[in-house]
Amino acid sequence: MKLYNTLTRKKQVFKPIKKGHAKIYTCGPTVYDYAHIGNLRSYIFADILHRALEYDGYKVKHVINITDVGHLVSDSDEGEDKIERAAKRQKKSAWDIAHFFEAQFKKDIKELNIIFPDKFVRATDHIKEQIALIKKLEEKGYTYKTSDGIYFDTSRLKDYGKLSGQKAEEKLAGARVKMGEKKHITDFALWKFSPPFPPSCNQGGGEEGDFFLNKTPHLTSPRVQGEEYQRRQMEWSSPWGKGFPGWHIECSAMSKKYLGQPFDIHTGGIDHISVHHTNEIAQSEAAYNKPLANFWLHNEFVVFGKEKLSKSKGNSITLNELQESGYHPLAYRYLCLQTHYKKQLNFSEEALGAAQIALNKLYGEARVLSAPKGECAKLEKEFKAAIEDDLNTPKALGIVWDMLKSNCAPGAKLATLLKFDKVLGLGVDKNLGKKVVIPEKIKKLNQERQEARKKKDWKIADKLRGEIEKMGYEIEDTSTGAKLLKK
Ligand SMILES: [Zn+2]
Repeated sequence: MKLYNTLTRKKQVFKPIKKGHAKIYTCGPTVYDYAHIGNLRSYIFADILHRALEYDGYKVKHVINITDVGHLVSDSDEGEDKIERAAKRQKKSAWDIAHFFEAQFKKDIKELNIIFPDKFVRATDHIKEQIALIKKLEEKGYTYKTSDGIYFDTSRLKDYGKLSGQKAEEKLAGARVKMGEKKHITDFALWKFSPPFPPSCNQGGGEEGDFFLNKTPHLTSPRVQGEEYQRRQMEWSSPWGKGFPGWHIECSAMSKKYLGQPFDIHTGGIDHISVHHTNEIAQSEAAYNKPLANFWLHNEFVVFGKEKLSKSKGNSITLNELQESGYHPLAYRYLCLQTHYKKQLNFSEEALGAAQIALNKLYGEARVLSAPKGECAKLEKEFKAAIEDDLNTPKALGIVWDMLKSNCAPGAKLATLLKFDKVLGLGVDKNLGKKVVIPEKIKKLNQERQEARKKKDWKIADKLRGEIEKMGYEIEDTSTGAKLLKK
């Protein structure tokens, strides 16, 4: 299998560290809000990688982290913690916010037919490991202290920034980063001190062994005393003082614990390249003098019109919202597979509707095929080649349709389709022999159409028919009323 490695900037043949095994780490969500469909693309992509490696015979170990502390609003070392801010706004505990959105994320993952990783690992469950790693970096002289935390000195590394290829001076030129007491623009926080509380008091150092100090903050935290002076809820004692880990250290500590160092493949969105992944590499390689991961794979953004889809731009769409609008989550998965992961995905409702029609058609074709038997060997070979060429899913989807149109025997077609779907994950197996379920939204549109017809309002009736068809359903007007069918 060939994969594009961001680190070497070329497609390389994947060679595992241990024969027959592939270890993958995927940067997971910061659980302060619902994931938007742009975020979810990263996990669909990682899932295709996971499935493709299994298809190729590898035993895969996959870890996804849950960032439930330390990710600040500016994505650097400034501003509030995203989870603490959400807690304050919603008047809930930070722990409740994190647990709620973690559960929502897992629900999305399930709906998208993404194979659950072997482990989901939470940052807050690994504070000791993170502190131990910071200590190691301190002993090796990679850290310094400022009034607000312990920082990593990036000037100590000759190859800092090798993943992005961006030089510190370039970063400086376009930066909006506040230097504060940082020595270099690229330095970053390993440990942040809790803001003093009450604000006029000096903060005390932590007591030894007193980890998980504030594990049940909703019981122990003081009430809000004016918004800006609310006490931080998630904090722990450390050798440097009470506080919380920086955003990057969790991935270095947890990937080492569960996958070792180096491991095979690290994945994430391209927005992680220049800061988060660069800093993961800096920490891990400084601590252990060996690479963090051999392959670095990054997926592109989802764009909405011309804007990047992200919460800060206010055009975020959640999977839930798509479902409420009558779309199947797997229609979004299908849409993602139509674009190579390294290309921007242009999202539009029209494109999603077309993906839903294609998916329904695929299920329909599968339903009329006879019991799986035999194979379509030539097309299987083509499919494998497409997937092994840096996960070329658009091409693979094309081969699926070529196969269905081919003159292979019906049983061989179904056997082959089910095999292909082990990689694509479109849920073909779950839809075999299943009655077509018409979503409530479609039924409602159909009802409205029937009422319009009764009133002889043909214009509205036609408009509603158009809407129904756009969502992948057909109407058959019979003597007993309108019947809904999947296209
Ligand atoms: Zn990470």
